[in-house]
Amino acid sequence: MDSRQIRIALTGNPNSGKTTIFNHLTGTRQKVGNWPGVTVEKKEGDIEKFGCQLKIVDLPGTYSLTPFSIEEIVARDYILEDRPDVVIDIIDASNLERSLYLANQLRELDCKVIFALNMADLARSRGYKIDGEKLSELLGVPVVFTVGNKKEGLDELLKTAVEYAESGTGIPESRKVRYSKDIEKAISEVREELESRIGPDFPYNRRWTAVKLLEDDTIIKQRLEKLLGTDSAQVLEKAQQLRDKLADLFHEEPEIVMTDERYGFIAGILKEVVTTSSRRRVDISRNIDLVLTNRFLGFPIFIFFIWAMFQITFTVGAYPMAWLDAGISALSSGVDALLPPGVFESFLLEGVIAGVGSVIIFLPNIVLLFFCIALFEDTGYMARAAFLMDRIMHLIGLHGKSFIPMLMGFGCNVPAIMATRALESRKDRILTVLITPFMSCSARLPVYIVLAGTFFAAYAGTVIFLLYLSGVVVAIVTGRLFRVILLKGEDAPFVMELPPYRLPMLKSLLIHMWDRSKMFLKKMGGVILVGSIIIWVLSAYPKAIDYSVDYGARMDQVHAEYAEKIASAPAAEARKLEEERTARIADLRRAKRIEHAEKSYLGRIGRFVSPVFEPIGMDWRGSVAILTGFVAKEVVVSTMGVLYAAEGDAESDALHRALRNSGMTSLAALSMMVFVLLYLPCLATVAVINRETGTRWMILSVVYTTAIAWLAAFFIYQGGRLLMA
Ligand code: GDP
Ligand code: MG
Repeated sequence: MDSRQIRIALTGNPNSGKTTIFNHLTGTRQKVGNWPGVTVEKKEGDIEKFGCQLKIVDLPGTYSLTPFSIEEIVARDYILEDRPDVVIDIIDASNLERSLYLANQLRELDCKVIFALNMADLARSRGYKIDGEKLSELLGVPVVFTVGNKKEGLDELLKTAVEYAESGTGIPESRKVRYSKDIEKAISEVREELESRIGPDFPYNRRWTAVKLLEDDTIIKQRLEKLLGTDSAQVLEKAQQLRDKLADLFHEEPEIVMTDERYGFIAGILKEVVTTSSRRRVDISRNIDLVLTNRFLGFPIFIFFIWAMFQITFTVGAYPMAWLDAGISALSSGVDALLPPGVFESFLLEGVIAGVGSVIIFLPNIVLLFFCIALFEDTGYMARAAFLMDRIMHLIGLHGKSFIPMLMGFGCNVPAIMATRALESRKDRILTVLITPFMSCSARLPVYIVLAGTFFAAYAGTVIFLLYLSGVVVAIVTGRLFRVILLKGEDAPFVMELPPYRLPMLKSLLIHMWDRSKMFLKKMGGVILVGSIIIWVLSAYPKAIDYSVDYGARMDQVHAEYAEKIASAPAAEARKLEEERTARIADLRRAKRIEHAEKSYLGRIGRFVSPVFEPIGMDWRGSVAILTGFVAKEVVVSTMGVLYAAEGDAESDALHRALRNSGMTSLAALSMMVFVLLYLPCLATVAVINRETGTRWMILSVVYTTAIAWLAAFFIYQGGRLLMA
């Protein structure tokens, strides 16, 4: 039999089971290549079935047909230009709401569509009951249930496809999305204008073309110009006028309003065809969302949650921190008692224990921070946060989705930058990568805790919160700048999924928390240990130093002086004298240490770079600390541990005291915190930026962040001095 060829295209969301079904349908008779001009894989298969030649094409997986990504453009163009006889939309039945968006866009396109409700098994096990007949009736589309990985329903699917392709039935217009009155009116007006200028062989559905013109679809506009030549000008102008009118009316781009209305339509369909045993949870979620994503309340509540997160991190964390602190000083006294004085003891005490110890005591804070982030993720609040930030993110031409990597940046910038891969457009990705380092990661927290704890004791939590907030503000402001100068372009509207709220499972919270804390511990053992040792070596050498005073002789003098006094004093006074002597000896030791550090290699480096940091209030020790922070920002603290901790132990108390005695002002501390917040991302982050965006953007990021950091710290320090003077 000489049968005609039927061309069948498979569309669907990513992970809906398209490829699985395609493989089962075509078996080994596949051709794999690329779509012309782009690096998107194209798979085709030719089979014979029901006496027909079937050509099956696996289109790229997409969530919509709005041409924002290459995949969407490829999929839409195939349907639009190659006109397959029938399109099978593979729908993940366990995720119907999301899948129906694409499904409805296909229907608007005026091609023959069949719905394969795949993952029927999953939908069932999740407690969804879908009325396929009703769905088919409501939308005027044949519906077949399938379980792709078990080959269930595939024969029926193919049969339905062939029958539908052969039949003469089209799609009843009435079954398509109806928009609200004003939009429908605009659609008709554009359509009239269009129809007055086109011939009968106009290749696209007219209503659909009108809709796309109202949505300002650049590709369709270009096609129209090609098809109509100069005649297209009036149509485009008309569409633009109506767009402006609608935008005025809704205070929103028409395409956004239309997207909303499509979702409204989908919500209506879902109400009709889905019954679910988890409906209740969804209702509860809706009610919670009424408050948490409320226009007015949502944002203050969000800020409150973040503020509470830092409060908890700081106050609850203080207890285990004290225990760790005590443990570390016990360890150092133990080592002190066990080992004979010498280079090795000094290496262990001042290099390893002081360096690593001064950072490791922040483990509780960091663990708590990660716990809170895991709580946001697991309860479903994270998605709401992104939703709330959507408006603000639009200020910089990004959408809420970009805020998720940014929020993750609070934990660690490295996974955050990798998370930008979820963004569709390359420009959005680069922009998000560039601003993410301003999100204050957990490595910066130890620096704040030390400095804010020392200089802003009672308000430490609030100061830290404000620092985080400033990071966000700088991110937003610079994002705007980059968007205007370097990365011009439209932002893509998107579908923000708001999963139902869940009570988090303790176990999964702990796993999330631990997974990330592990990275911190690994860094401890690796980079920070090595960094501390290098810093110790640089600060301990050269051994022979020209001291400005002979400390040995001075100490002998003090000893001799007090020995005499104590011998002749009455018992009651002797004790006081004894204490005095100890204090004076300690002072001399400290002075010696400081002079030693100052004249060490590290001190020389510090003095060499300090002219750069002087205007922002750093002495040479602060300069060195900042310099070493490039390795990893926690190292700033371990460097301070080595340089400031007068008695060479890691006790944060000792560091607090030493910092207070060092002559550092609270203004300088603030300037330093701001600098650490903003200046160049750590080595690991720089490496990821390089990998994800390329060397040019990486260099820009390094130079730019450091420049901003210096300027901000300069204005704070100098401005503050002017104010106080
Ligand atoms: P694609 O991204 O749309 O091409 O999706 P794939 O064909 O790669 O399928 C994604 C995953 O879903 C694979 O692990 C499949 O084995 C699985 N899968 C496909 N169909 C079904 C189904 O009906 N039920 C279940 N439970 N899993 C399925
Ligand atoms: Mg696939």
